[in-house]
Order: sequence, then structure tokens, then C-alpha cells
Amino acid sequence: MIELLLATRNSSKREEMRALLEGLDGPPVRILTLDDFPRAPEVLEDGSTLQENAAKKARQTAEACGALSVADDSGLFVDALDGRPGINSARYAGQNPTSEKLCRKLLREMEGIAPARRGAHFRCCIAMADPGGRVVLTAEGRVDGLIIGQMRGTGGFGYDPVFYYEPQGKTFAQMTPGQKHAVSHRGRALRRFRREWVRLAGSA
Ligand code: IMP
Repeated sequence: MIELLLATRNSSKREEMRALLEGLDGPPVRILTLDDFPRAPEVLEDGSTLQENAAKKARQTAEACGALSVADDSGLFVDALDGRPGINSARYAGQNPTSEKLCRKLLREMEGIAPARRGAHFRCCIAMADPGGRVVLTAEGRVDGLIIGQMRGTGGFGYDPVFYYEPQGKTFAQMTPGQKHAVSHRGRALRRFRREWVRLAGSA
């Protein structure tokens, strides 16, 4: 049985990752969380890219916990704000802000910006490291949308209530988890991860 540790303290992200990693092909896998490792280190996210931060979180967690660890670093990149909040998405409205606080701050900054200039995308970088601290698998995903002028929906987390996905005519917060996973940056990244996982398991 392979144990795979989800290296995130964000419970919404963790549950999305758990759902998206269910039933991995290959050898049987047991998913662990940081609740199983109360002394796991708090990893400082000081890289200059999502890739660097995902790799750092995966490496440090894997080394400290002695388990194969998978980390996600993600963010919202808004065209009219030159890509902000980007890599600082989690800290855009202070330490540990609520979804409502994040959305309200973004809506304030976007006031007066015309509909044609409200494009944005989410990006997600996934990295998996082994207990020796080697990054053995990486995968990325992206989804494009628009920042609408008010919050809509109660599902999801973070910026979901203001991120409008045009093909479905809904914000991410108005979708069921399954609908969001089918198109989201994290869903896309983790489906790539699953394909790489199969390749890795086949060559092990
Ligand atoms: P980090 O990856 O822990 O640095 O945090 C990324 C931040 O980006 C989260 O705390 C959210 O605010 C935002 N974010 C990432 N993915 C999503 C998503 O799927 N929906 C809404 N917000 C997200």
C-alpha cells in the first residue's frame, strides 16, 4: 500500500484534491493529510513562482514526515490588475482572510473596469516529492474566466463567487463540486497528475 500525504492546511483545497485523486490506477493508495502529522512544518511560501512554491511545500513536507507528499500552489491572475493577486492570492486581503473578504477587495479594485477588460485565469501547480526530498512528478492546469461585478453562489472557496466561467454561465461558487472539478485549474492539473502517476507506477 502506497501512502500519499496531501501537503496542505487549506481544508477546501484538501477536499478537492482528495476527490480528484480518488481511485488512482496502479498499486493501492492510502491518502493521508497533515492531521495525521501534527508536527509537520509550516512551509514558508517565498518562491517567485507557483511551481517553486509547490515544489518547496512538497519537498519539505515529504522530508519532515517521511512520506510521499503532494502539494498544490495556486492563484488567480487578473488581466486588468497586471496579473495580481497571482502568487499572493491567499494573502491578498491579510492573513487567513475569508472568501468574502477576498472577493470584496477584488470587486473594489475592479470597480469601473469595463466587461471586455475583466478577463482572469486561475492556475494550479502540483508537485509530488519523495521522502528523500526529490520532486518526482509535477503537473499544471489553467482555466480562463471573467471577474463579475458581484458575488454569486455559495459553493467552493476563495475567489469562486466572483470567478465566472462563461461556457457554463455560472461562477465556480454556483457549480456543484463535480462541475467545478471538470473544468477547474486544479481538476485539470490533477488529471495530468493522474496520467503521470500511472506512467511512474508502470516504470517503478
Ligand atoms: P496557496 O496555493 O495556498 O498559496 O493559496 C492559493 C489561494 O488562491 C487560495 O487561498 C485562494 O484564495 C485562491 N485559490 C486557489 N484556487 C482556488 C479555487 O479553486 N477557487 C477559489 N480560489 C482559489
